[in-house]
Amino acid sequence: MRAVVWQGPRKVSVENVPDPRIEEPTDAVIRVTATGVCGSDLHLFDHGASMLVKPGDILGHEALGVVEEVGSAVTHIKPGDRVVVPFNISCGRCFMCDQGLYSQCETTQSMHGRKGAALYGYGHMYGGVPGAQAEYLRVPQAHFGPIKVDDGIPDTTAVLLADVLPTAWQAVEYAKVPPGGTLAVYGLGPIGQMCCRIARHLGAARVIGIDRYPDRLKLAAAHGAETIDFTTVDDVVETVREMTGGRGADSVIDAVGMDADGSLAERMLQTVKVQPDRMAALHHALGSVRRGGTVSVTGVYGGWMMRFPLGDLFDKQVALHWGQANVRRWTDRVLEVLRAGDPIDAAGLVTTEMPLGEATRAYTAFRDKEAGVIKVVLRPGEG
Ligand code: NAD
Ligand code: ZN
Ligand code: ZN
Repeated sequence: MRAVVWQGPRKVSVENVPDPRIEEPTDAVIRVTATGVCGSDLHLFDHGASMLVKPGDILGHEALGVVEEVGSAVTHIKPGDRVVVPFNISCGRCFMCDQGLYSQCETTQSMHGRKGAALYGYGHMYGGVPGAQAEYLRVPQAHFGPIKVDDGIPDTTAVLLADVLPTAWQAVEYAKVPPGGTLAVYGLGPIGQMCCRIARHLGAARVIGIDRYPDRLKLAAAHGAETIDFTTVDDVVETVREMTGGRGADSVIDAVGMDADGSLAERMLQTVKVQPDRMAALHHALGSVRRGGTVSVTGVYGGWMMRFPLGDLFDKQVALHWGQANVRRWTDRVLEVLRAGDPIDAAGLVTTEMPLGEATRAYTAFRDKEAGVIKVVLRPGEG
């Protein structure tokens, strides 16, 4: 089959690789019909080696497909079913899964428990599991993971159930926006866009979206967010404070993560591997929250941090909640919303569909934030 493989920094290609097959009774194999390219893939695209990705590894963790074959222990899905596959691989029956902490599943944890649940296509720190940007995907723990999706939900919406929608839903839940409160969202990629919409849907009175790209700012504004282009203000934290009566936002989401723009010094520290993550967005998120407020971090970070504002966070009594999305914990609620007329307009998020064969171009366009390219989905069936 053909699959998108990592070749080295900023280099992916589409190669012929062996077809996956059932290896355990709890496996399934699906034929992938739509597979997203995610901001998380961009971290691997840029710095895969430091996240234990090896040349030749198959990327991708957002899959919608049709079941081809199931192992003997898989009973809730059968060949021919249309399913979406959550990006974390979880067993559904361990101590962590019992608490809905699917991204911490103890059955699939890798590195002897030093990392959370295994993930598709996310390097050997997360289990070295072949990824979803391929014609076929082996789905481990398939007795629990895959979810059947109604025919009425279009592919480009359904594929967002693998990651984007449950991740944004969790980020908003973790942000604990008080009734009638204000949420600031750093980063208006696919995750930040959906955080803005879900927060409004769940009752936030005001949402302030922060990014630098006009199309991303415009899209958030079209869904009711007030926006800040952080390159046009002297001090983005001060701007958020001014917009919130001098106090700061009740809740803040960091939907940017480790490759934040904004600090040349941090870019250099990251390049020479002194500090793995660029912290500009996290610093701004922490600075923008009011006393007693909550910061929810959904942007991915990989290492440690210098200059952590411990004293400020202590003094301000800030609550922090972060982590990889526990996808299955939110999918039922998201599905209800999609079935109830999709008031969050998930159907409008995918801006760009390309055949799998154009993966190199897809990665570059998404990474470079080409105008109009906000969420990219690859179509393995189309060349
Ligand atoms: P994306 O790269 O499209 O979005 C990031 C956005 O942040 C971009 O629009 C960029 O312009 C903006 N940005 C960069 N620096 C900024 C700054 N200093 N201030 C404000 N905005 C800034 O990616 P995405 O797909 O939306 O993903 C966003 C983040 O969420 C990534 O870190 C990704 O790895 C992470 N993620 C986490 C989970 C999870 O389970 N926690 C799941 C999916 C994605
Ligand atoms: Zn993703
Ligand atoms: Zn488990």
